[in-house]
Amino acid sequence: MPRGYHWLKQPYALFGEEREHMRQVIIIGSGPAGFTAAIYAARANLKPLLIASSVEVGGELMNTTEVENYPGFPDGIQGPELMAKFQEQAEKFGTEVLYDDVTSLDLNGPVKTVTLGSGAVHETRALIYATGSAYRKLGIEGEERLSGYGVSWCATCDGFFFREKTIAVVGGGDSAMEEATFLTRFADKVYVIHRKDSLRASKIMQERAFANEKIEFVWNSEVAEVLGGDSVTGVQLRDTVDGTLRDLPLDGLFIAIGNDPRTHLVHDKLELTAEGTIWVDGRTSKTSVPGVFAAGDVIDPTYRQAITAAGSGTVAALDAEHFLADFDDASVEVPAAEAAEVIVA
Ligand SMILES: Cc1cc2nc3c(=O)[nH]c(=O)nc-3n(C[C@H](O)[C@H](O)[C@H](O)COP(=O)(O)OP(=O)(O)OC[C@H]3O[C@@H](n4cnc5c(N)ncnc54)[C@H](O)[C@@H]3O)c2cc1C
Repeated sequence: MPRGYHWLKQPYALFGEEREHMRQVIIIGSGPAGFTAAIYAARANLKPLLIASSVEVGGELMNTTEVENYPGFPDGIQGPELMAKFQEQAEKFGTEVLYDDVTSLDLNGPVKTVTLGSGAVHETRALIYATGSAYRKLGIEGEERLSGYGVSWCATCDGFFFREKTIAVVGGGDSAMEEATFLTRFADKVYVIHRKDSLRASKIMQERAFANEKIEFVWNSEVAEVLGGDSVTGVQLRDTVDGTLRDLPLDGLFIAIGNDPRTHLVHDKLELTAEGTIWVDGRTSKTSVPGVFAAGDVIDPTYRQAITAAGSGTVAALDAEHFLADFDDASVEVPAAEAAEVIVA
C-alpha cells in the first residue's frame, strides 16, 4: 500500500459528524481532462463538483479554431464547440459546474479542502487535479489576436493546415527542432528563428534540423511583432546584435519556447517530476498524496493532446471511484449480527 494510506483503515468516525457539504469528488479544471473525468464520475453516481475557472472555461482548446484530430468528428470541429459538447455531456449526467478559480488547497488528511476566489470553501474525499499547462508566449503585438489564424503552439495539432506554405518556428531547444523537422512534412519552407547564434537543443536534434534542406536558420533574431489582418502575413524581426528591424513574409508562426504545467497550487504539496509536471504512479493518476489524482497536460510532458488529456481524465475518475470504494470497504464497520440481518432482509 502506498505511503500515507494508513488512515484508510481507520473508522468512518474519522470525519467526525457526517459533513453536509462534503463531496465525493471535486474536479479542478474544465479542459478535456476535467470534463472527461466529470462524465465518468457523474455516471458512477459520484455527483462531482467541477471548478471550471472564472475566465478560462473550456481550457486550451478555446484558443483554437478548427480541431481535425479529435476522433468522432470526421469533418473537424471548432475548439470552443468541442468543449461546449464536453460540458453538455458532463452536465447531462449530473456534474455541477462552478465558474470560479481555486485559490488554495489543503490536502492534509482524508478530507481535502478547496478554497475558491469567492471565498467559498468546499470539502471532498477525492480530488482530481486537471489544471492543464500553459504554452509560453512571446508577449508581442499580434500574437494573441492571430492565435488560431496562423499563430500556433502545437505542430502536431496545426501542421496539417500549412501544406505547401512558408512558416517559421521560434525557439532553440529540442521541442523547437522537433516541431520544425515535423513541419517540413507539410510546409515548403520552415525558418527557425533564434535569438542567439547557437542552439540549446541536443546535438542529435540539431543535426537532424541542419540536415533538412527545407529548414533555414535565422540567427540572432527575435520576433518583435506578428503581422497580418485576418491571418498571419509575416513577422517583424529585430536583430539581437544591432537592433535593426526587418520584415519576414510568412503564412504561419509556431511558437516553441516552452510549456509550464499549472502546478502553482500544489508545487509544495504534491511531488513533481524533473519536467515540472505532477508525479503520478505509473499509468495511474495517483499522486504522492492519497485521495488526490491528477490528469491531463498537468501530468504530461510529452504528448499534450486533447485526446490524451481526455483519456487521462478517464483514468483519474476510475482511480477516484476505486479509491472511494476501497475507502468505504475499509471504514464502514458492520457488526456481524447486523450484517446477517441485512442479508436476511
Ligand atoms: C492553440 C492550441 C491549439 C491546440 N489544438 C489542438 C488540436 O487541434 N488537437 C488536440 O488534440 N490538441 C490541441 N491542443 C492541445 C490541447 O488543447 C491540450 O492538450 C488539452 O486542452 C489539455 O487538456 P487539459 O484538460 O489537460 O488542460 P486544459 O485544456 O489546459 O484545461 C485546464 C483547465 O484548468 C483550468 N484551471 C487552471 N487553474 C485553475 C484554477 N486554479 N482554478 C480553476 N480552474 C483552473 C483552466 O482554466 C482550464 O480551463 C491545442 C493547444 C493549443 C494551445
